Amino acid sequence: MERSFKKEVEALRLGDGETFRGEGILAVTKALLQSGVSYVGGYQGAPVSHLLDVLVDAEDMMSELGVHLETCSNEASAAAMLGASINYPLRGAVTWKSIVGTNVAADALSNLSSPGVVGGAMIILGEDYGEGASVIQERSYAYALKSSMWLLDPRPDLPTIVRTVEKGFELSEASHAPVMLELRIRACHATGEFAAKDNRKGVVSGLDKLPGPPKFEYGRLAHPPVIFTQERMKVEERIPAARAFIREHKLNETIDGDLADIGVIVMGGLTNSVLRALERMGLADVFGASRVPMLVLNVVYPLVPEEITSFCAGKRAVFVVEEGFPDYIEQAVNVELRRADIQTKVYGKGPLPKAGEYASDVLLEGLAGFLQATRPSGIDADTIAEKARGLVAHKPKAAAAFGHLPPRPPAFCTGCPERPVFSALKLMQRELGPAHIAADIGCHAFATFAPFSMGNSILGYGMSLASAAAVGPNMQKRPIAVMGDGGFWHNGLITGVASNLFNKGDGVLVVMQNGYTSATGQQYMPSSKASRSGAAPGMDIEQTLRSMGVKWMRTVRTYGVSKMVATLKEAMKTAERGLKVIIADGECMLARQRRIRAEDAEKLKRGERVTKARYGVDDEICTGDHSCIRLSGCPSLSVKPSPDPLRTDPVATVVESCVGCGLCGEVAHAAVLCPSFYRAEIVRNATWRDRTLFAIRQRVIGWLGGYNATKAAA
Ligand code: SF4
Ligand code: SF4
Repeated sequence: MERSFKKEVEALRLGDGETFRGEGILAVTKALLQSGVSYVGGYQGAPVSHLLDVLVDAEDMMSELGVHLETCSNEASAAAMLGASINYPLRGAVTWKSIVGTNVAADALSNLSSPGVVGGAMIILGEDYGEGASVIQERSYAYALKSSMWLLDPRPDLPTIVRTVEKGFELSEASHAPVMLELRIRACHATGEFAAKDNRKGVVSGLDKLPGPPKFEYGRLAHPPVIFTQERMKVEERIPAARAFIREHKLNETIDGDLADIGVIVMGGLTNSVLRALERMGLADVFGASRVPMLVLNVVYPLVPEEITSFCAGKRAVFVVEEGFPDYIEQAVNVELRRADIQTKVYGKGPLPKAGEYASDVLLEGLAGFLQATRPSGIDADTIAEKARGLVAHKPKAAAAFGHLPPRPPAFCTGCPERPVFSALKLMQRELGPAHIAADIGCHAFATFAPFSMGNSILGYGMSLASAAAVGPNMQKRPIAVMGDGGFWHNGLITGVASNLFNKGDGVLVVMQNGYTSATGQQYMPSSKASRSGAAPGMDIEQTLRSMGVKWMRTVRTYGVSKMVATLKEAMKTAERGLKVIIADGECMLARQRRIRAEDAEKLKRGERVTKARYGVDDEICTGDHSCIRLSGCPSLSVKPSPDPLRTDPVATVVESCVGCGLCGEVAHAAVLCPSFYRAEIVRNATWRDRTLFAIRQRVIGWLGGYNATKAAA
């Protein structure tokens, strides 16, 4: 059910002399194949979910090259895969979302970086930083520093991205260290073109296998006493080797400019944003030529001291554009300049904010501040700064003109099977009082927003049950942990369930069984009903929990709100001690709609009967108290003016996007809400039975309403 890239992956077959056109994420895949990788893997997460989806869709092509593909159960297993490159000349790449994925993978990454690699090992990080982020705002840079892995941050244009991937493998092999390639959201979706090369088979691959393991070598293990030697090797051999490679192969770029007494040192990934800001200020053109000299760091770690000092020599000031906190690069630039006794003044955080995304208005303001502070010769800094500020001055005015706009937080999809569970939780708490709710990562985290506003903590993917471990023993009421099936297989089974059972915990766990890792694009997982090869993987949550010793377990259809309320109440009140698990079962509606739409289209083509349920509100009965909206929050539930001229309150209405999930009827019933809701069925390719039934119903309804259909027709 992953997004399909079947058409786009054909471009991965392009060879020497042909031009590749497409998205950044697809270009990375092509670069991997051109680099002769022997294995790839990863765990999905924005903004690199589609990299894994592309790899899955390109599996046939990869098997022709003998490349092994692993869709890993979490980032730790993906990182551990890179262990193949410790002993063997196997090039491999794995991918995940950072910073969260890198946190999960940290143990394996440390143990990989210590012995180092002989085959090129690359980690493609979807760096989810900034306004659109869905995770905590931390930087992967810290991992590069602590583990001595190199961090590539290519300028977001396709030829640079592709070159950085290819050179990244060479860098990894030349310095025997793993490399991380940071891809921001904009780089993933940047479109462009580059000159393709033929795909390459790995030195060793599934087509050309190794005869056996190498001679035992203790130094290949991350284990004492060799870890002490390995630490020295990082400092004395690997970092110098990496710096030499970066310099020799010119991985970092310089852009010359005539304003020679100042300069900008920029993380590669931010280069286009800075150039655009300079262009708007009249200091660059749209083709990337800049009047302000720039040092573009396509490799942000390790920095090459000679490159920094030679760029800064003769300049009065440089401006370090480094997004995020702490300011690792700015500090390092200051240190290198002091060591070389170069007196260039370093600006960065100050004109630029310490935290937050460096979007265009932030960069305009920061560059204006830098120019005014340094007053480079040859330009009128005040006029340019005024121009820059003028470009964004309309924003506060526009905001003031609109007045206060209500926030629009993300929400569950229309008809989502997880929404009814939170309606049930709301109803349960109305009766039993509020309970501690340990939330988790996944679509169900939308319940932290209105109208549910539920959740007391989020500690990580699959961590909800573990995060409630110390709450339960200190609270009169049992805590409720909510976890998705994706989180369950990612981490929750061991971190949460095993630990809870081992410690004889007493709490409630609700597992949302929607069949996919939905939030990242409906990828398959161990308990899905299908897999990338077609057949179901055959793992089952209920059976797994039973085998581990969970005694109290109920599987409840999510849309059955009354039953869910009763089950939650039972779990909260039962005298039975131990973990109580409710498996909330309902297929992800987005995935279901995609599936059903295709099936229905086929049926319609064959002239077969197709039905669709829709819900509606009888506006003559609706009182306009909107309890239904407060209890469900479905985006298809809206309001409209009341048809009754004596009523001023708007009535509820169900808009066209309703998928007929049935929650409206269920909530109305479970909450003893109101009788306004009705269910209608849209029938296409109606049979004679449908038509006869319809005619009879029309007559009966007309008769009951005192309406004479024959007269009306006349
Ligand atoms: S993607 Fe699926 S599980 Fe997630 S909010 Fe939408 S319908 Fe619900
Ligand atoms: S039945 Fe109600 S909750 Fe379900 S999709 Fe329609 S409006 Fe939304």
